Amino acid sequence: MTGIRKGTLIAGDGIGPEVVSATVRVLEATGVVIEWEAEVAGAMAIALEGTPLPQKTLDSIRTNGLALKGPTTTPIGSGHASINVALRKTLDLYANVRPVKSMPGVKSRYDHVDLVIVRENTEDLYSGLEHIVVPGVVESIKVITEKASTRIAKFAFAYARENGRKRITAVHKANIMKLSDGLFLDCCARVAADYPEIKYDDIIVDNCCMQLVLDPTRFDMLLLENLYGDIVSDLCAGLVGGLGLAPGANIGERGATFEAVHGSAPDIAGMNLANPIALILSGAMLLDYIGENAAGTRVRNAVSSLLMEGKHLPHDLGGSASTSEVAEAIATRLSS
Ligand code: ATP
Repeated sequence: MTGIRKGTLIAGDGIGPEVVSATVRVLEATGVVIEWEAEVAGAMAIALEGTPLPQKTLDSIRTNGLALKGPTTTPIGSGHASINVALRKTLDLYANVRPVKSMPGVKSRYDHVDLVIVRENTEDLYSGLEHIVVPGVVESIKVITEKASTRIAKFAFAYARENGRKRITAVHKANIMKLSDGLFLDCCARVAADYPEIKYDDIIVDNCCMQLVLDPTRFDMLLLENLYGDIVSDLCAGLVGGLGLAPGANIGERGATFEAVHGSAPDIAGMNLANPIALILSGAMLLDYIGENAAGTRVRNAVSSLLMEGKHLPHDLGGSASTSEVAEAIATRLSS
């Protein structure tokens, strides 16, 4: 890399500021220099700027092509629309990548889980097209296009090729939503034909959930529309130790944002209790994305060694280390 890399830093709401500063501490300890530009989004942005997603924040991410983001709170049922959805759509961050991996030393239902979820990020029921037809009747519109479905399928197969993955399973409900999920499935199958070395199959979403709970190791990569991807991601996080360990990236043609799967966890906000590992692992994905793969691997190894040793475990994994203590312990491993 030449010059200093710039990135946008969004602390977010709830536990966001705590896990973001923990992650910055760990990234600094790798020796990779990223000059962070702090911007706001979410409830904090409403308080400071009067809008949940200020233009200045969008401009900063567009210019830097890179952001590390804490979770932002989305009010349920009313209030402002999801900042995550708005960001992903406005910046066309169409691919949501969520690796799901068993971690050493973490008590969970399964060992040896190693799968990657690729979720379409811009359409489906997240189109935001909802209206009241007559009082008591609401329509919510699911939008599936050939363009977006082909684009996400191409992303998934290219990812599989680059990362040595062997099999992609498209997840759908085309037996009921014959047109929309049928189109998604057709696009996936067409792209699959260009990648003969990668095994391709498909599965109905309800059966997929059952199979995942019975034995997640039978999957390699899952390719999903937006809503199924959201739900199945949380299910998969639960299979390997919970939301505190689940990282994610939103990737587009001109940039990417990195954020954990979990939300703002208002129940534990401000208490220095949150597990920062999900965002720290998202930070490792950020390092890979900017070409600092060795540093990304070092972060993952430091997290694994911390979990294996079991001394500085965060509260959600049965330990008593605070958010900052977990970060410090990982940073110390990186510097030594
Ligand atoms: P939001 O509305 O922002 O999605 P939420 O509380 O509905 O917030 P999450 O934030 O994902 O959803 O939290 C779900 C549960 O998981 C909460 O009990 C929360 O405390 C816990 N949790 C989420 N993230 C973490 C974390 N990083 N460390 C520890 N516990 C977490």
